Amino acid sequence: MIRILANDGIDPIGKQMLEDAGFEVDTNNIPQDELPEKLKAYDAITVRSATKVRKALIDATPNLKLIGRGGVGVDNIDVEYAKEKGIGVYNTPASSSLSVAELVFAQLFGGVRFLADSNRKMPVEGNTKFNDLKKAYAKGVELRGKTLGIVGFGRIGREVAKIAIGVGMDVLAYDLYPFNPELALVLGGGTVVNVTIESASLEKIIKTADFITLHTPFVDKALIGAEELAQMKKGVGLVNISRGGLIDELALIDALNSGKVSFAALDVFDNEPTPREEILKHPKISLTPHIGAATNEAQERIGVELANLIIEHFKK
Ligand code: NAD
Repeated sequence: MIRILANDGIDPIGKQMLEDAGFEVDTNNIPQDELPEKLKAYDAITVRSATKVRKALIDATPNLKLIGRGGVGVDNIDVEYAKEKGIGVYNTPASSSLSVAELVFAQLFGGVRFLADSNRKMPVEGNTKFNDLKKAYAKGVELRGKTLGIVGFGRIGREVAKIAIGVGMDVLAYDLYPFNPELALVLGGGTVVNVTIESASLEKIIKTADFITLHTPFVDKALIGAEELAQMKKGVGLVNISRGGLIDELALIDALNSGKVSFAALDVFDNEPTPREEILKHPKISLTPHIGAATNEAQERIGVELANLIIEHFKK
């Protein structure tokens, strides 16, 4: 029987599908340092972002035939090496795009109304300094009519654009590669509206956007560093729910302190899982612990997509 270790968990529906197909699925988490020994007993492993499947682990587990990543990024897996060894590597790139896009908007709506800081201060000072806090958070702005710059116009970037259009924002999109600017918005009731997104240079986005959200893969050098921050509009809001390292964190802190950037929202960090204190404590940063894809709906879609891929692989 084919044994699958779902080391970072798998949605119950996906698990059931695999079991119905005759596989054994183990959802007990095995710590990273015990995997070289214990993974030997399995034919396949599924991971999210926590478990790493590096060359040494692949070498230690010659029985391994498949690595499944529930989610998008495969930076925790030595993909090329695994493929060289004949191991199938699969991810579920489309399953979580909408969840990430919705979190972008949770952060944008929250950012323009100081929700993160207000929620930090109200429990402490809400009944002694109510009027001071009221004044401190009085200068909110609306998103409608503002320009959103989307850097990286792939699956998530496109979902973000759809929501932005619905909110009444102007959208500028930049991608390293030429992209289809047409988007089909499916409204309530099933009405479809086709819109064309304006393609822009990174420079134009940096100089003219009121808000910038990043949706590229990890890149070696920060896309947004001190130089880029210096060219942005005063009061710009930044969102990174993509990968740590895309915004230079120290330059961001300076730009927040100087008022150049009015707020930032981060789901991903330089040193996960131990982000730097200055980032965690900054009053103008709204924080989430890498939960962009963590909705029930996305996890279910991921589980089902992964189960189908695994079943298909072992049928061959
Ligand atoms: P995607 O591959 O569909 O899109 C990425 C786009 O970025 C592509 O169109 C690509 O051409 C473009 N790109 C690559 N390098 C670029 C650069 N230097 N400048 C501009 N554009 C560039 O990927 P996606 O599904 O949209 O995911 C985007 C990012 O979101 C990935 O890094 C992924 O790891 C991350 N993500 C994070 C979470 C989370 O929990 N926070 C969840 C899902 C995905």
